[in-house]
Amino acid sequence: MSTVQQITVLGATGSIGLSTLDVIARHPERYAVFALSGFSRLAELETLCVQHRPRYVVVPDAAAAHALQGSLRAAALPTGVLVGEEGLCAVAAHGEVDCVMAAIVGAAGLRPTLAAVQAGKKVLLANKEALVMSGALFMQAVHESGATLLPIDSEHNAIFQCLPGDYGRGLQAVGVRRVLLTASGGPFRETPLAELERVTPEQACAHPNWSMGRKISVDSASMMNKGLELIEACWLFDARPEQIEVVIHRQSVIHSLVDYVDGSVLAQLGNPDMRTPIAHALAWPQRIDSGVSPLDLFAIGRLDFERPDEQRFPCLRLAREAAQAGGSAPAMLNAANEVAVDAFLQRRIRFSDIARMIEFVLNAESARAVEALDAVFEADRRARALAGEWLARH
Ligand code: NDP
Ligand code: MG
Repeated sequence: MSTVQQITVLGATGSIGLSTLDVIARHPERYAVFALSGFSRLAELETLCVQHRPRYVVVPDAAAAHALQGSLRAAALPTGVLVGEEGLCAVAAHGEVDCVMAAIVGAAGLRPTLAAVQAGKKVLLANKEALVMSGALFMQAVHESGATLLPIDSEHNAIFQCLPGDYGRGLQAVGVRRVLLTASGGPFRETPLAELERVTPEQACAHPNWSMGRKISVDSASMMNKGLELIEACWLFDARPEQIEVVIHRQSVIHSLVDYVDGSVLAQLGNPDMRTPIAHALAWPQRIDSGVSPLDLFAIGRLDFERPDEQRFPCLRLAREAAQAGGSAPAMLNAANEVAVDAFLQRRIRFSDIARMIEFVLNAESARAVEALDAVFEADRRARALAGEWLARH
């Protein structure tokens, strides 16, 4: 490929956004930054504009736009400032953009990610919540637009690497028996159950292997992250929930495995650094340097595996049930979890209340059919209202 690819990074100020910019900066002959977005870390966003000189930058509101415009002008940067969801969708779907990194956290990323998909872009999907919420509609949009969807989540990127190119024919057709989704088990894998009532946001965010944003760190501690990933895998690889088995592998060296009918099991390994899946997806089907150091198997020494304990991690069970129920259930699970994690981070509820609140929301109504995006946002709104009721009562 001779031309420089124009990249939009949605959620540039976050953990995935910064790792993406690190990989991009290693290959100026291949990639240029077309647009960046941020939300609350606006000083960091300004620094990123100076470093990467994007054509556009997107901020949440007019006040932020005004402040950033002033400093960009003072620095003589040619960057245009756009605002809000409309701005995010515009830079995701812009005619000159080749590739979009979808790395906004949570439901806020759904419309911009879908805008990139509908415009037929190469979409690097980190924002798993978008796919969990709108699964069937999202995948339908991918097929209709001809967008290239590449998973950034390390597990899904690993599965993608272990599947044959024609896996779209169906897992059974390509000889897959099951997919093994690995999980580190997070910081509370061995914490006595009674102590889980008292763990703090700081403890929950101190992941043993990965450095990530706060929301996904709490999701990893509760294993809701693995639950969301189970749903994500069902949509990405057209799998049924029972074809996916979660395996706790505390070293986070094997990023997932595919088990074939002939007894072959293929795995993808690497140091736990998101620049590997990011570089893989950016360059796919080629390979580029990511800056990640080579895996030292002798230093690692051993790889351990265990079955997840659903009593310790009820969120995993709740997510599997939502996956089986389908329809509006995954969107409600996701929204209830977002409210619960936020409340936990603000110290309004205990860690073990996260699962209680989600279970309350899911039990409040049975799954409804989701035929259009409006129904997804409606389910998201209902779940947030129900979660609010639970909060008010506790
Ligand atoms: P961070 O919290 O580090 O970053 C989130 C990004 O989204 C930031 O740029 C943030 O802006 C922006 N943002 C937050 N809220 C809004 C909003 N309402 N509207 C627009 N933008 C918003 O998260 P991560 O980078 O860790 O995760 C991003 C996504 O990638 C998540 O969906 C996560 O599940 C997924 N992922 C992350 C992995 C990781 O290793 N970090 C691994 C696998 C998946 P600002 O910071 O300026 O407020
Ligand atoms: Mg993951």
